[in-house]
Amino acid sequence: MSLSQIKGLGKKRIELLNKLNITNIYDLVFFKPNYYEDRKTLYNLQNYNLESSALYKVKIVTGPIRNVSKKNLKYIIYNAEDAYRSIEIIFFNLPWISNFIKIGRSYYIFGQIKKNGNKLQITNPMITENLNNDIGEIVPIYPLTKGITQKVIRDSVYQALKFVDLNLSLPKTIRDKYNLPDTLTILKFLHFPSDINQAKTAMQAMKYLESFIFNMMITNNGHFSKKQDGIIIKASEIEDKFIKCLPFSLTDDQINVINKIKEELESENIMKLLVQGDVGSGKTIVSQYACLKTAYTGYQVAFMSPTNILAEQNYNKTKLFLDRFNITHAYISSKTSNKEKSKIIDQVREGKIKCLFGTHALISDKVKFNNLGLLIIDEQHRFGVKQRNKILEENKYSNLLVMSATPIPRTLALIIYGELDMAEIHQMPNGRKPIKTYLVTKSDEQKIFEFVKNQIELGRQAYFVCPLIEESAKLDLISATEYFKKIKDEFKNLNVALLTGKTSEEDKDGVMSKFRDGDIHILVSTTVIEVGVDVPNASVIVILDAHRFGLSQLHQLRGRVGRGQYESYAILLSDNLNTNTFTRLKIMESTTDGFKISEEDLKFRGPGELLGSQQHGIPKLKFLDMKNDFNLLLQSKKDIIEYSKYFSDEEIIKIEELKEVLFNSNTTGVLN
Ligand code: ADP
Ligand code: MG
Repeated sequence: MSLSQIKGLGKKRIELLNKLNITNIYDLVFFKPNYYEDRKTLYNLQNYNLESSALYKVKIVTGPIRNVSKKNLKYIIYNAEDAYRSIEIIFFNLPWISNFIKIGRSYYIFGQIKKNGNKLQITNPMITENLNNDIGEIVPIYPLTKGITQKVIRDSVYQALKFVDLNLSLPKTIRDKYNLPDTLTILKFLHFPSDINQAKTAMQAMKYLESFIFNMMITNNGHFSKKQDGIIIKASEIEDKFIKCLPFSLTDDQINVINKIKEELESENIMKLLVQGDVGSGKTIVSQYACLKTAYTGYQVAFMSPTNILAEQNYNKTKLFLDRFNITHAYISSKTSNKEKSKIIDQVREGKIKCLFGTHALISDKVKFNNLGLLIIDEQHRFGVKQRNKILEENKYSNLLVMSATPIPRTLALIIYGELDMAEIHQMPNGRKPIKTYLVTKSDEQKIFEFVKNQIELGRQAYFVCPLIEESAKLDLISATEYFKKIKDEFKNLNVALLTGKTSEEDKDGVMSKFRDGDIHILVSTTVIEVGVDVPNASVIVILDAHRFGLSQLHQLRGRVGRGQYESYAILLSDNLNTNTFTRLKIMESTTDGFKISEEDLKFRGPGELLGSQQHGIPKLKFLDMKNDFNLLLQSKKDIIEYSKYFSDEEIIKIEELKEVLFNSNTTGVLN
C-alpha cells in the first residue's frame, strides 16, 4: 500500500508530504502530532477558558455589524449568548460567513475567548451547527508545510490506519509491565483519541515504544548478554615480562584497566569490556596487553581498526611486542594482494597465525578463526551501528575489548553499551602539554592571523576548521570555500590547501600527505572529513563559528593538535556569545578532560549529538525528545537488559518489523 492509494493524495500532495518526511504509509501512521486541541469538552460563558481555545455553544442574537479596522481590514460582528452571558463574535476577512449564520440559531464555536473590559470577545472561531470530526473531538494538530492542511493529514492518517497491517507489538513481558496496548490501538488513540487523557497516554506509549525499538536497534536486540561462560585465558608470567619491557611506567588508570582485563580474561565469564579514554590517554598499550596475554596462551586474537591507517599503526606498534614473545601475526590491508590474502586466511584458519590485524574486512565471511580468544575493536565509535552489530553478533563467544576515544558520561554509555562492562582512563601520561584554548570573537581575527603567521615562522603548521552540518551543508560548503580564499589572500607566500567532503579520495590523500610532510602550511577544512593522520608538527587549530559545535566535537577537533613536543593552541572563534553559549564554550578553556566535557555537553545540549558522535547511523527519532525524554531511553534500555532473554522468536521478528516501519525510511545519524 503506497501513499498514492490514499484518497485525496495526488502527486502534488505526496511531494509536499515528503517534505514532512512522510514517504510511505507507515510514516503517516507514525506521524507525531505537535499537540492536541480539546474541541470536545463543552464550556459555557460563565466558566470560560481564557488560557486556550475551547468549545462553546451559543445562540446568535444580533448581527452582522460590518466594519473596517484601523489597519483597513474588513470585519463582521455578531452578538451571541448562552444561558449565562453574552459574547461578541468577530470575523475578520470572512465576508461570506454572513450567508451561513442565521439569527436566532444556535452554533458550536471553537476559539479562544478574550476579555475586552467587561465584554467577552472571540475572534475568527471555528463555527458549526452540528458537531463533526473537526469540531466536537479531541483533535491532534500536526506540523504542516505550505499546501498541506490539518484536514489532509487527518483524513490520510485515518485511511492509512485502516489499511495498514500493524500486528506489531512489543513483547508481552514489556507490555505487561507497562500495561501497554497493542501498537495499532496506541496509534488509534494517538490520532483519534476520545479524550485528552487517552491522547496523553498514547503519546507516552509511543515514546516508550520508540525508545525501546531505538535501543534494540542500536544494540542488536540486546543480544550480547554479558555473563556467559567463555574461554579461560590462564594466568601466566606474561604480565611481568610485558610491563618490564615498556619504555615508560604506566599511569594508575592504565594499571587499573590492565588488572581488570587480567581478571576478566582469567575468569570463566566472557570478557565484554569497553575502555573509554581520550585520544592520547594510552589505550593502545592496554589493548596490546590483552592481545599478548591471549595469544601467549595459544588463542587467536583479531585486532580491528576503523581505517587502514589506524590498522597499520596498531599493527606496527603491536608486532614489536609480539615478535619479542615469538607470537605469529599478520596484517590484511586494502593493499594486500589476493594471493597474499588467501595465504593469510588459510594460516589463520589452521591456527598458524595467532594475531590478525586489519579493518572490519577481518570479519568478512572468508576469515575463519581456528580458536579466536579475543576480539579487539579500536575506536569503535567510528564503526557504524550495523557494522558493529554484525561484528558483535558473529563473535558472541569470544572475549571482547572495545575501545572508544570519544568519552561519554556513564548514563549515555549505558544506552549504547549497556551490555558491556566499562573501564575509563582519565589520566594522561606524564609530560603531556595540555593544549591552550582561547575563546575569541571575530574582531580579533587579525590578531589570530598574526599568531598563526608566527607559529608558521617557527616551523609549525595550522588548521582552520569550518563547520559543516547536514541541514545547511550547501551553504556551509560555500562558506568554507570562501574562507579558503580569504586565508589564501591573507597568507600569500604560504601553501594553503582546502579539504572538504567534496574532495576526491585521491586528492584527499595527496593533500594529507603533503600536509604531513610539511609542504602545506595551512589546511582549511570542514569537519566532514576525518583527518586520520597525526601531524605532530601542527600546533594551532582555529575553529570557526565554534558555537555551532558541541563541546565534545570541539574537544575532538582540538585533539588534532598537541600531538608533538610543541606547545599547542586551539582558538575558538565565535560572534554568537550570548550568556549560555559563552558559559558553554568557556568550559573548553578550563578543562581538557574529555569526560568532564561530555558531561557538560549532556547538560547543555542533551544527549542527541553525543550519541551521534559515539555511533554513526543512529536512527532519527520521531516521538522522543532526547533531552526531555532521556530517562525513558534509559528505562527502556534497562528493560531490554533485564527482559530480552525472555523474548520469543516471534516477538523478535515483530521487533525487527517495527524497526523497519518506524525507522527504516529515515536512518540518518542526525538526532533531534
Ligand atoms: P590512544 O588512547 O589515543 O590510543 P595511544 O595508546 O596511541 O593513545 O598513546 C599515545 C602515546 O602515548 C603513544 O605514543 C604511547 O606510546 C604513549 N604512552 C602511552 N602510555 C604512556 C605512559 N604511561 N607514559 C608515557 N607515554 C605513554
Ligand atoms: Mg588509539
